[in-house]
Amino acid sequence: MLILNGTLATMDDQNRLIPDGALLIKGDRIAAVGDSCDLQARYPGEQVLDAEGRMVMPGLICAHTHFYGAFARGMALPGEPPANFPEILEKLWWRLDKALDEESVRYSALVCLVDAIRHGTTTLIDHHASPNAIDGSLDVIAEATLQAGVRASLCYEVTDRDGEARRQAGIAENARFIAAVQAEANPLLGASFGLHALLTLSDETLEKAAAAAAALGTGFHIHVAEDLADQRNSFKRSGLPIVERLHRHGILGEKTIAAHCVHVDDTEVEILRETGSRVVHNPRSNMNNAVGTARLAGLLRQGIRVGLGNDGFSNNLFTEMHVAYLVHKMARGDPRAMPADAVLRMAFAHNAEIADLFFPGPLGQLSPGALADVILVDYFPTTPLDAGNLPWHVIWGIDGSSVDTTIVGGRVLMHHRELLTLDEAAITARSRELAAEVWQRMTSR
Ligand SMILES: [Zn+2]
Repeated sequence: MLILNGTLATMDDQNRLIPDGALLIKGDRIAAVGDSCDLQARYPGEQVLDAEGRMVMPGLICAHTHFYGAFARGMALPGEPPANFPEILEKLWWRLDKALDEESVRYSALVCLVDAIRHGTTTLIDHHASPNAIDGSLDVIAEATLQAGVRASLCYEVTDRDGEARRQAGIAENARFIAAVQAEANPLLGASFGLHALLTLSDETLEKAAAAAAALGTGFHIHVAEDLADQRNSFKRSGLPIVERLHRHGILGEKTIAAHCVHVDDTEVEILRETGSRVVHNPRSNMNNAVGTARLAGLLRQGIRVGLGNDGFSNNLFTEMHVAYLVHKMARGDPRAMPADAVLRMAFAHNAEIADLFFPGPLGQLSPGALADVILVDYFPTTPLDAGNLPWHVIWGIDGSSVDTTIVGGRVLMHHRELLTLDEAAITARSRELAAEVWQRMTSR
């Protein structure tokens, strides 16, 4: 397939902006990048997709999300509103996850996948919980993601909070699914070993999980120091800060994703850096839960390649970029606190490095040999646009709702905003019925 007449933002090492650019896709990879006239002349017989002047960019990557949270949309919790993060977990998330059955797990994922394709998010790294439907839950989500045609890496969050049997079932679900993904080697599927957060994990559970993951040669996906309550709990249990406790149990490393890291001190940052652990920033979630603002500038300055996630918010990563750009300025009282190019590095280069853990990339760039995950965006700039100022155009001018076409591995999943792999109306209708049942189960328990 030949995509012609686009404004190409390559987002690779060369960081080129190619006006009237073209992209040749062969199989699931990009074969050539260049000028429209040139590529059209060199590849005359190719099927053509006319970008009609739209921006052509790599598909977006979400480095931390929760498909299972989809049915929380619109929910007004009865009773006193939660006053802090532990209460948010207890009153909302730990009641919602228990109310999910297999079908609601599937439709929660499908709802998020529609949202992702619509907003140009082509790779998602998910963290799943459904304590009353653990066995096989990752297969159910994998089926939904394959039906949608996006790339997804999945895990089940192991925790002690639902008792011994469910802890063991969570460990088994991770191990079973990781082994299956390794055996199948589907280019759209990845897996890691999920852990909730140290707040709900005993030393014994960490040892069991570390042993199971080591046997499979995989890393972890865990919430780290999201709220101060997590740090307080760690000191109470072990006398150690979170990151040190994780390190002692062999949880950190280049294959491990540490979501949040809002409350980490300099020593912990150094351990994260030394171990090569991947840190993921989720600014909308941090603001919503009022847990604090990650010391992002400090983490980036230390050389940590922080990525960007949505933690279950809408799968519009453009909005996440906009918020990341704004919140640090306000929190630090300094308009220089978070430049747009730093935000785009997190969303593209750093997230692509994290996604490389699961998919044989490169991802997140338009360059020959890269995976053909591409979006076409309705953006026709009213001010000069070049490679140098592109980040400020993305922050000030581009939103996910402007995505016109979404392509993953050379397969068109949405064209002119029409979804080609998922029946949005049917998914919406069924999810509304299932969500009503889930809400009912939440309030009747
Ligand atoms: Zn999360």
